This record gives sequence, structure tokens and C-alpha cells, in this order.
Amino acid sequence: MLVVTYTATSAQSLPKDKQSITGIIERHEPQLIKLSDQVWEFAETALAELKSSKVLADYAEQNGFKVEKGVAGMPTAFIASYGSGKPIIGVLGEFDALPGLSQKAQPTKGALKEGDAGHGCGHNLFGAGSLGAAIAIKELMHQGKLKGTIRFYGTPAEETIGGKLYMARAGLFNDLDVSLDWHPEDKIETGSQSSQALIDFKIHFKGKAAHAAFDPWNGVSAVDAMEFYTTGLNYLREHVKPSVRIHYLIQKAGDVVNVVPENAVIWTRVRDSKREGMFEVYERTKKIAEGAAMMAGVEHSFELISGMYEILVIQKGAELMHKNLEQIGPIKYTDTEIEFAKSIQKATGKALLGLDGSVSPFRATTEDPPGGSTDVGDVSWITPVIRLSVTTAPKGTPWHSWAVVACGGMSIGHKSIGYAAKALAFTMYDLFTNEKLRKEIRDEFEKKKGSNKYKAILPDGPPPVVKPL
Ligand SMILES: [Zn+2]
Repeated sequence: MLVVTYTATSAQSLPKDKQSITGIIERHEPQLIKLSDQVWEFAETALAELKSSKVLADYAEQNGFKVEKGVAGMPTAFIASYGSGKPIIGVLGEFDALPGLSQKAQPTKGALKEGDAGHGCGHNLFGAGSLGAAIAIKELMHQGKLKGTIRFYGTPAEETIGGKLYMARAGLFNDLDVSLDWHPEDKIETGSQSSQALIDFKIHFKGKAAHAAFDPWNGVSAVDAMEFYTTGLNYLREHVKPSVRIHYLIQKAGDVVNVVPENAVIWTRVRDSKREGMFEVYERTKKIAEGAAMMAGVEHSFELISGMYEILVIQKGAELMHKNLEQIGPIKYTDTEIEFAKSIQKATGKALLGLDGSVSPFRATTEDPPGGSTDVGDVSWITPVIRLSVTTAPKGTPWHSWAVVACGGMSIGHKSIGYAAKALAFTMYDLFTNEKLRKEIRDEFEKKKGSNKYKAILPDGPPPVVKPL
């Protein structure tokens, strides 16, 4: 394990081009914050991010990027590019919100509009920060200081179907030398950890309706099958590795109580640290569904929604990002921001630790990642990825919650935008200017990937179209 003593470098001691990057980002910062606030207010959920995607794409266009909209069959997916030839470096930006999390930018729970969506994962900051980094690189290219192509990927629907999966299947990441991204968190840290692989599927059970009292013997219950299935699944939990997660949600269980239920639908998600383990458990769940259908005497069918790969961590890339984080130093917070954070911690029953704006020490990659998955995992098996987390919420904040939404709409969240933009742009600058570094990263990627050929875990056909809420 690498032990790092943290010393922030003053702006003056930064190399000249990195000083320019800092200047460019600081010049764009008010606009980037405005973009983030707009996306925060739109709070559009997966695949319905029409306005959010538009404001980001428009800003890229105004800054001289060529924008291709509606890529990979998704109206809200786009690629903004600038420059030509190799190297080609991509930076990913998300912007989808989560249903039901509407929240004001205040330290106590209170919906902006009851029942509406909210940015409980901070993707409003994510999109704006990544775009800021792409713009800084573009300006250096324009000044003739960098050669190659910079691409900003507007990647929708991370929270549901995984928009990047469809973009990956369409081959949109194939010619990249490296791809970068960041994510909101409660700390600043280079991306040295993987994520869980997952598979998402539904099982449809089909029985036969009959009057529940007059002639139940003529009916066959789809709900019986579903109950046998969940029982089997819950027994299975004892015999899977601790790294496995199994979640399910009952989507349909008949319509009325006086009819033997004809239809039942259950949505299941299986995760594990590596996709081999995930697939193993998936095969077991299929057998359980088969057995459940047999016991109840009903028909059943599977509907694949999507699956995500675990992240392939590139050590060399994580180290490079860490070096840049050390150069940038910590985020400093005002007393008002620390008070805001502590009020949130009080309201969510967490220790009153305030905010952690320091750069976390480099952590060696652990065998099992913390729980959670991302569609960046798929990108990481196509091209090397370099990632980071930036503080956007108080220490220990429950994620996908109102507290994340609250901070994302005020200065605590705003500070992460310029920070992430600098960290990503500094790292991209190093990659554009250092061919040897790019080669080392590529070599590590090829070695770790081995003979694996990427194949998206998706049903055939175009992405599902989701109507705006
Ligand atoms: Zn997220």
C-alpha cells in the first residue's frame, strides 16, 4: 500500500499549461454552475432528460464542439467532439435524476415539488464538471498546445437501463485511447476500486384466472409460482458468497383478490464482484423460477433488462489521477457550508463530522468492491478508464437520498464542479502530452483484459423508450 503524505501545491508552482487549464475552468465556472443548477431543477429521470441533455449539448456547441445528438438510438445521448486524429480521449458526463427525490437546497427534508424527481446521485454536477474539463482541453487544442481529439460523451439513463451499455454496444467507445469520468461522493479520491457486475431481469408467470370462491379449482395462480420463486431465492441467499447481492421487486401480483391471479411479474437483480460469479447465481435463479413454475403448474418466461460489467481498474491511471489530485489540493469550505453539512448529518442521524474536502490517501484495489454498480464498467472493458470521486455531500450522507439533492443545488455541490473539471483536465493533459504514459496504460489494460471480447448484456433491439414522468 502506497502511503502518501499530502501536500497541496500552490497554483504558482503548477506547470504553465496546468495554470492555463485552471484559468480556463475558473472562467467557465459560473456558466458550469448555471448548467448544473438548470439540470438540478429539471430533475429529469432516465431517458427523459430532454432539457438536461439539450443545455449541456448547446453549451458544448457554443464552445466550438461538433455535436452529434441522438446516438445509439437514445434521443438524449450525444457526443461532442473537437480536434482531429489521435490520441482520442473521452470524458463521460451523466445527467439523469431519480424519481421521488424532489428536495429544496436546504438542510432539512422538504420537497421542491412533492412526488417529483431529484438529483439524489448528483448527476447534475457530474455532467457539468466533465463538460468543463472537455472545454479546457479544447481551448488548449485551439491554442495549438495539444494535438488529437477530445470527446465529451453525454451518457443518459445511468440509473435505469444504463445508457452507456447501448453506446458501448454501438461501438461508440471503440476508438478511444482512454476514457475518464468522475462521480459525486462524500470524499475526494482517485478511482482505484472496482464496482459490482450486475444482471437485471424480470420473470413473467402466467396462470389461469377463475372465480376465487366459486370455482378456484379451475384456476392456476401465477402468484403461487411467484411466492415459490421468492422462497427459493431467499433460501439460496445462505449458499452464495458474501459478495453476492440479490434484490427483487414485485411488479404485478394479479389484479383483484376475488380472481385467481393469472399474471405475476417479478423484477430481480443479481450482483457480484465479478461477472463470472454473477452469472453463476443468475443461472441458479433461473432454475428456481423453473421449479416454481412447475410446482404451481404455470408457464413462465424471462425478460432480460440489462447487465453491467465490473470496472476493470487500471492502476497506472489511478496513480496518475492521484498525483493530479495532490497537485490541486483540498476543497475548502466556509463555516456556513460546514453548518449546512452538520444540519444534514443531524437530520439523517449521522455523526456531525461536517465535510471532508481533503484528498484521500491512495488505496490499493480490494478484492471485493463496495456494493454498487455503474455502466462505466462496460466502458472499462473496451478502453482503459480513469476515474475519481469528488466531495459533493457531508461525510456519511445516505446516497440516493434528499440530502444529496439538497447539497447538489447549493455551494457545497457547486464547488465539486470546478474541482472535478480540473482533476479530469489535468489528467487528460498528461495523457495528451505523454505517449509513453498512454502506452503503459494501454499495456496494463490489454494484459488485464486478456482475450476477453466485450459483448453487452442487453436484449436485442433498440433501447426502451421511457415517457417523461
Ligand atoms: Zn450516480
